[in-house]
Amino acid sequence: MNLELSAEQEAVRQLAAEFVAREVTPHAAAWDRREAVDPAIVGKLGELGFLGLTVPEEHGGSGGDHLSYCLVLEELGRGDSAVRGMVSVSLGLVAKSIAAYGTPAQRSEWLPRLCSGAALGCFALTEPGSGSDAAALTTRATRDGADWLLTGAKVFITNGTTADVALVFARSGGPGHRGITAFLVPTDSPGLTRREIHGKLGLRGQATAELVLDGVRVPDSARLGEEGGGFRLALSTLAKGRMSVAAGCVGIAQGCLDAAVGYAGQRTQFGKPIAGHQLVQQLLAEIAVDTAAARMLVWQVADLIDRGEPFATEASMAKLFASEAAVRAANNAVQVFGGYGYIDEYPVGKYLRDARVATLYEGTSQIQQLLIGRALTGVNAF
Ligand SMILES: Cc1cc2nc3c(=O)[nH]c(=O)nc-3n(C[C@H](O)[C@H](O)[C@H](O)COP(=O)(O)OP(=O)(O)OC[C@H]3O[C@@H](n4cnc5c(N)ncnc54)[C@H](O)[C@@H]3O)c2cc1C
Repeated sequence: MNLELSAEQEAVRQLAAEFVAREVTPHAAAWDRREAVDPAIVGKLGELGFLGLTVPEEHGGSGGDHLSYCLVLEELGRGDSAVRGMVSVSLGLVAKSIAAYGTPAQRSEWLPRLCSGAALGCFALTEPGSGSDAAALTTRATRDGADWLLTGAKVFITNGTTADVALVFARSGGPGHRGITAFLVPTDSPGLTRREIHGKLGLRGQATAELVLDGVRVPDSARLGEEGGGFRLALSTLAKGRMSVAAGCVGIAQGCLDAAVGYAGQRTQFGKPIAGHQLVQQLLAEIAVDTAAARMLVWQVADLIDRGEPFATEASMAKLFASEAAVRAANNAVQVFGGYGYIDEYPVGKYLRDARVATLYEGTSQIQQLLIGRALTGVNAF
């Protein structure tokens, strides 16, 4: 793996860093308090091509490699995980699925809009009764002539109330993963209702929602991929999605490092900056090692994808390590800030709240451990 960024990758990283410093960081605390990011951010992300990274230009995307994508997500995660998550879901889970599995008509209907920020996507897999065991989902897809009728409930759906299209996974056949099919459902479809979930620990600026589908009618042309192929599609999409969550976590950890080093140099106790106390340096060193190690695991996954190599286990490793590292880094940063870390005048408290969900969604830490363990042993311990 080449650890040096190309001039092009460095330029993308710089563009993202400047964008975040100008358009995201100054507003992140206010968006968090009012539980909504400014919707105008979507168009701004689209203008810079950040909602179309890695999607081929002929489909309306902005192209680029997966390392560039991770560099952008790291910068967004450092600015505001709510914004990073909007991109990870709309681009990483929805647009990329359409690019990989869509028909020419589906690609031309959705990709130019999703990649420009004219539309947002959401990924509706989780249900009240099926989270980690996603293959147990019960939302039904029933044939009605040339159409399908979708009925069921989805929960914890990122971008749920703001998305224009939902990638919905529903049971069209028998039990188990082979009975699941994916559909592209316009969110203004009759019978689809959405309710925002409030009171989240973190990611408060992000719209997380419940979706209820009550006989939502979609034509067969809205089916994404093969009938019965929905679960395989979800798994392959989530494997790349784990890399993007991990990249966002690197951004959180880097943000914690910068904030904690800066504060430790200014805050004086016992007659010297706290940076001069060995135990404070220990906290800073732990954050630095977590950040660097998480970044290398993320870059490894991007490198494997760009070389066309298998990457799913490495993506689980990156997601597991980076999410736990971001929580540790944020917790250590709060410690460096002392009581000031516990109030929202400084960013580290928000980093801790935002990092916490990363060990839960797109497969909990336990699920990543089971995936890695199965790859190592060949034994399924689920
Ligand atoms: C803010 C937020 C945004 C989200 N966004 C989306 C989204 O956009 N789309 C979407 O579809 N979903 C989304 N989710 C849902 C998320 O993916 C699920 O919450 C996650 O998969 C875990 O499912 P669960 O909450 O039902 O927990 P459960 O599956 O009930 O797990 C509870 C606990 O049991 C453990 N556990 C479960 N099975 C095993 C096992 N076999 N062995 C060991 N331990 C096990 C888990 O690790 C966890 O600790 C989001 C969630 C949140 C909180």
